[in-house]
Amino acid sequence: MAAVPFKHFLVVSDFDQTLSFNYSGQILSDLIGIKDFRQKVDGLASSNLVQQGAELAYLIRHDPAFRGVRRAHLAEAGRLARLRSDIPALVEFLKRGLDGFQFSFYVISAAPQEVIQAALAGTVPADHIVGTEFEYDPDSGEVQSIRRVPAGYGKVAAVEELEERLGISPDRTIYVGDGSSDVHVMLHVNNRDGFTIAVSENRMLARIAQSTVISDSAFSVLIPILERIVGWRSGEIREFFESYALRLHEWEKARTDRVTIVGSSVIPPQIVTPAELGASQAGDAVA
Ligand SMILES: [Mg+2]
Repeated sequence: MAAVPFKHFLVVSDFDQTLSFNYSGQILSDLIGIKDFRQKVDGLASSNLVQQGAELAYLIRHDPAFRGVRRAHLAEAGRLARLRSDIPALVEFLKRGLDGFQFSFYVISAAPQEVIQAALAGTVPADHIVGTEFEYDPDSGEVQSIRRVPAGYGKVAAVEELEERLGISPDRTIYVGDGSSDVHVMLHVNNRDGFTIAVSENRMLARIAQSTVISDSAFSVLIPILERIVGWRSGEIREFFESYALRLHEWEKARTDRVTIVGSSVIPPQIVTPAELGASQAGDAVA
């Protein structure tokens, strides 16, 4: 059988409030007993000193209240993060790909690398996570400097770096995010004919993202991908979700897809495509 030519897509997701429900900085602050984290972030944001999303990195490096932060605190904050459901199923689906479609999944976030790695341990390999990197004093373990912060325009740079490394053209980049720190990168991805998905009702993003999905399940971002990129119809998408033991309980289609997914995902032995479903229903599966 001749190999089907495939399209290779880069799927990039933000972490805080896109794969998780909370803000890493808040979890870390609660962990080490900092009460006015929100005020500190708001103060920094209003001064425009740092890119949106880079506030935590700045505070860890420069605010005396954060001087006690060590690598272990970051990992602990990651373990405490509450994640959206079905992330393993999403990652596994993207890893397998579909006939004609290959996906490379990466997380790009301003959250500290250690936080994201601990939160997604066993699901997303560390080399598919691009987070804020600190350098630590070898003796005290204190944060000495900031190596990189993928926030604001820093996310654009991180996406471009991946596209180049993986040899993926910009029109095959899909970006998923929730907040104002994703504005730069979404505008950039849109400008170069990529695809953007918002997973929150952030008004600024809703105007920029090409699709919005509101759901507690991370698997829901596959709805616009299967519909708009792969070209499946609603019925095919429903059957596909059912093959993962997930039911699209409520799916209100407007400009925003609001989805309640029922069940806990079971990763099937192989991906069943609509073509295969049709073939098996007709009883004449073709090899
Ligand atoms: Mg976010």
